[in-house]
Amino acid sequence: MTLADTIDAIKAEAENDLNQSSSAKEIEALKVKYLGKKGRVQGLMPLLKDSPSEQRASFGKLINDLKTALEEQLDFASNRLEREELNKRLACETLDVTLPGRRRFHGREHVILKMLDEAIEILSGMGFSVQYGPDIESDFYNFEALNFSKDHPARDMHDTFYIRPDLLLRTHTSNTQVRVMESCNPPIRMIAPGKCYRNEDVSARSHVLFHQIEGLYIDKDVTFSDLLATLEEFFTKLFGKNVEMRFRPSYFPFVEPGMEVDINCIVCSGKGCGVCKHTGWLEVAGAGMVHPNVMKSGGIDPEEYLGYAWGFGIERLAMLRYGITDIRYFLEDNLRFLQQF
Ligand SMILES: [Zn+2]
Repeated sequence: MTLADTIDAIKAEAENDLNQSSSAKEIEALKVKYLGKKGRVQGLMPLLKDSPSEQRASFGKLINDLKTALEEQLDFASNRLEREELNKRLACETLDVTLPGRRRFHGREHVILKMLDEAIEILSGMGFSVQYGPDIESDFYNFEALNFSKDHPARDMHDTFYIRPDLLLRTHTSNTQVRVMESCNPPIRMIAPGKCYRNEDVSARSHVLFHQIEGLYIDKDVTFSDLLATLEEFFTKLFGKNVEMRFRPSYFPFVEPGMEVDINCIVCSGKGCGVCKHTGWLEVAGAGMVHPNVMKSGGIDPEEYLGYAWGFGIERLAMLRYGITDIRYFLEDNLRFLQQF
């Protein structure tokens, strides 16, 4: 067999090997087999040495050409297989962006806080500053300073959680009134939002914990019509439509005169429905002109100043707006209820 024949045989063998290789690893093995130090190409060198001197140059060229051709073929094959393997791996790893995502649970504002914030925003826009009173309160600020003397029968209307005989959980946000009067000079134009507590039986209509917003305005020329106009503007803004109001005389020790405020039913526009118990009216607030005794408790001269005050329940407003029939829903951790808002 001549050297040329041997070279052809190696070429054919390499071609066959290449055809049967299916991985970059196998190609690496072929590189060793053909181009390594003990490889087939290197194996031709003794033949070259033994060949006649006039043929050596051309044989040398043949061997070199073979080496170059094999290098090219093997590199080409290994690049191709590496690319294929990479593509295969990427195909497994690729994200399918069309797959629906997993929904994460997002927390949200509680419906009561939402209602409270909305009311605060409206009233702040009307010029009222926000003040906060303590939830744990002395008998003085919750009752006595508000014209409930120690044995006042109106105390029975407030089922109170007492901590000590002189310390209690506030039964209304009105405890903030005298605190603010003591620390600010008139004109006072403030609201006090917060939690209130009453030792009542829990039912669809009452709970031991609820929220109120207190309003207080004290100045030299405050009139009853100012109070009516303020409440009308607030409820119109809150419910997003013109509300009609009516006032019923009522008794609260800290106002004189005192009244309960009704608006015409926002659900049936006054025609009568289940929400308004077919009366066409909804009770939304208690209000009145600040009692002179309360002014005195706060160190303000009732001969010089006049004031009005109101309080309304946030739960009540939320129930009216969203048609919620049971106050207990607000304090139950029922996500299906809470996620609606
Ligand atoms: Zn109605």
